[in-house]
Amino acid sequence: MAQAQTRNKVGELRPSQILFSAGIGSVIDLPNLSTMVMGLDDWDITHATELGEERLLAAVKRSLSHSVKRLLSPPLPPESDSIPNLLDESQRVGIPVSPFPTWMLCPNCRLLAPLQSGLFDLKTDRFRPDQNRYIHTNCPRGKFPPTVIPARFLVACKHGHLDDFPWRYFVHRGVDCGRGTLRLNEYGVSGSAADIEVKCDGCGANRRMSDAFGEPGKKFMPQCRGRHVHLRNFDEGGCDKQMVGILLGASNSWFPITLSALSIPTAVDKLAQLVEKHWTVLEKAVSLEVLAAFRLIGQLKEFAKYSDAELWAQVQQKRSATSDDGDEESKDIKTPEWQVFSNADTSLNSADFWLTPVAPPKGYESYFNKVVLVERLREVRALVGFTRIESPGDFVETGEIPEDFWAPLSRQEPKWVPATEVRGEGLFIQFSEQAIAQWEALPQLKDYKKQSVEAHQRWRTARSLDPNANYPGVRYILLHSFAHALMRQLAIECGYTAASLRERIYSKSPQDDNGPMAGILIYTAAPDSEGTLGGLVSLGEPATLGRHIDQALDQMRLCVSDPLCAEHSPLQNPNVLHWAACHACLFSPETSCERGNKYLDRTLLIPTVKTELSSIAFFKDLM
Ligand SMILES: [Zn+2]
Ligand SMILES: [Zn+2]
Ligand SMILES: [Zn+2]
Ligand SMILES: [Zn+2]
Ligand SMILES: [Zn+2]
Repeated sequence: MAQAQTRNKVGELRPSQILFSAGIGSVIDLPNLSTMVMGLDDWDITHATELGEERLLAAVKRSLSHSVKRLLSPPLPPESDSIPNLLDESQRVGIPVSPFPTWMLCPNCRLLAPLQSGLFDLKTDRFRPDQNRYIHTNCPRGKFPPTVIPARFLVACKHGHLDDFPWRYFVHRGVDCGRGTLRLNEYGVSGSAADIEVKCDGCGANRRMSDAFGEPGKKFMPQCRGRHVHLRNFDEGGCDKQMVGILLGASNSWFPITLSALSIPTAVDKLAQLVEKHWTVLEKAVSLEVLAAFRLIGQLKEFAKYSDAELWAQVQQKRSATSDDGDEESKDIKTPEWQVFSNADTSLNSADFWLTPVAPPKGYESYFNKVVLVERLREVRALVGFTRIESPGDFVETGEIPEDFWAPLSRQEPKWVPATEVRGEGLFIQFSEQAIAQWEALPQLKDYKKQSVEAHQRWRTARSLDPNANYPGVRYILLHSFAHALMRQLAIECGYTAASLRERIYSKSPQDDNGPMAGILIYTAAPDSEGTLGGLVSLGEPATLGRHIDQALDQMRLCVSDPLCAEHSPLQNPNVLHWAACHACLFSPETSCERGNKYLDRTLLIPTVKTELSSIAFFKDLM
């Protein structure tokens, strides 16, 4: 930990958590402490494992920095069968954290002071690191020095800054009397900010915490200091935003910005595939001699069938193909995925990627070209930054998050970023281009298209984004709504928690580069065991899938919030970008949806109670 010279272990986190719920810059609540996950500069990566996924690495370089050379899975203590020696250094391998907030509250005497005041002492327990805590040694109340707790109030801003609450400024309404200690008193049992009061012992100044939130907050809170606790620094040039009061553990205090890619075969033959799989080793082979040496020390066992010369030729070919990763081609993560799924070439199946194409369900032959059971897939996901207050899902694509909002992971240019790999399974459904084109040409859809463009523009204008960029088209709204309807149905049926399913929408019109595309992938990406049960794939067999799609679509006719839900239009409110969709019918958990529950409308799937739009439903002839 930062405050003490030595590092103390304070708790356990699973590697998958580090990216999505408790990554760099987030605050983790441990039993007796609250801590900040520190930036890359503080990490010891001796025990980190490199994850090979070049398409993703190229995307990270493009969106974050070309200085990134590697994707690393967070360090884990070396495995050992023996009882761990708690005095061993390896027990301290892990994620660096530092106490935050640093203002602590004594529950007995209500003293409110920062750790730097020296009023609190660290009490460590080597054998039970989760019991590490701070105590109020000279507390006037009670027999034993009580364990102090973190103050529950913090401040943040939309530019990704987070800071200790400005306690002294706040209670004194500006100028500090400089004389007294502070106390935080609670009146009543509600725990609401209006019932909590901070008071200065020196001058008697006091103030209710409700002044830090809502409208009073906008009036009274000072300007942000531009602090990045995880980097131990302040932004050069400060910050022009106002501090916003937030509570410790508030869900809007940290949102990860992540990029992900599926490991798809880009190689055309077996040798190329093997080279790809072992690229993190082979990359280091700078000559035929080095390659031969690798083989001698037993590093290339899987290449027994191939001569050094054959292998070397393939390595060189691969190297020349990946040398220019800044090109436009690698910008598009989805196009290569679409090509692999829609071709469904089973000769490219491998341990990381296994496809079995099957027929579309009965009755859906004119809507779908094919269904592909993705029996094995691997997804690698990298953390490239984070936001506070506003979620990245509020922007259309990662590349659109304004630079001001995107908080960095490190002080220096990053040389690596944390990543995780997840193995799972999925279902790919390719829509019939002919059916989509016919639907898109419906004269009744004309008005709808116009309105959707207008809603898109308004929503973007309200966020100072270029109103004319990145309109995804009605095709996207259709595919996206279908994916959500099916995810909800499959989650109910196979007992997955809704959050363990994810979607990828492949949508491009014929005029777009690499278009047309019309397909969806629903896959499991739970880092835990759920992803490998085969349950999802078994639901993709034609008869079963047909029944599920029937039910999924049927569910879309009526929502408990109808007629309100069915009649909703984003033109009524520029803060949202969906039509007939809500938590009761079409929304998915934040982690499942690639667009933050935007661009959804069940009217495009099936007739709803808004009967005047029945004719624009894609599946209207089914029922
Ligand atoms: Zn005390
Ligand atoms: Zn005072
Ligand atoms: Zn700020
Ligand atoms: Zn609804
Ligand atoms: Zn979605």
